[in-house]
Amino acid sequence: MSISVTSDGDEWNRPFWYTRTSERAFCLTATEVTVRARGPAEPIARLMEEFAKLPGIGPKTASRLAYHLLRCSREDALALAQAIIEVKERVQLCSRCFNLTDVDPCPICADPSRDQRTICVVEDPLDVLALERTGAYHGVYHVLHGVISPVDGIGPERLRIRELVHRVQQEQPSEVILALNPNIEGDATAMYIARQLIPLGVTVTRPASGLPVGGDLEYADEITLGRALAGRRAL
Ligand code: ZN
Repeated sequence: MSISVTSDGDEWNRPFWYTRTSERAFCLTATEVTVRARGPAEPIARLMEEFAKLPGIGPKTASRLAYHLLRCSREDALALAQAIIEVKERVQLCSRCFNLTDVDPCPICADPSRDQRTICVVEDPLDVLALERTGAYHGVYHVLHGVISPVDGIGPERLRIRELVHRVQQEQPSEVILALNPNIEGDATAMYIARQLIPLGVTVTRPASGLPVGGDLEYADEITLGRALAGRRAL
């Protein structure tokens, strides 16, 4: 199901004392105002609270989403609940590349038509989706699940770097592409990994310029990302 939020004609933007019955609008009495001022019923408030925890969702959008679910059909609401449960129960990390998957190894690792000897290292699973959209990359991936960031207390041991080094030792790929975001953390992480992989005899590259400096891989358009990948340089 899709959740759409519209701003025009939205009755939730009206003052709290304003309500609508059929075509008739009226003001509530003082007692009713007192009752209404206690806020929404507990289950609704709880749903709003949960929505407000999501990234990019403020209190206002959270209440809109909650009331949208109250108004939509029971089937649609349950389909959303079921999708959330399934994503938590069925999605796991691929034991080889650490991408999110519902089968292990993931379909990319298991695909014999992909170049299994070229590994593209990315920060998170959304970067895999961005690179797949380019249609320009036919190798496999390794997802770090973050970058080194001393400010946030994230050291190399919190990422899948040890697993990458082990994988390179085991699989002896011909090339490892460090497609990390071109910012301070991405650069530092790429240099840290390169220092460990180059002595193993593997060619280590980074995508060429063309990616906006300080930008995010996930938001680069397909053509820019495809070209950056094609023009990668050795470290
Ligand atoms: Zn995989």
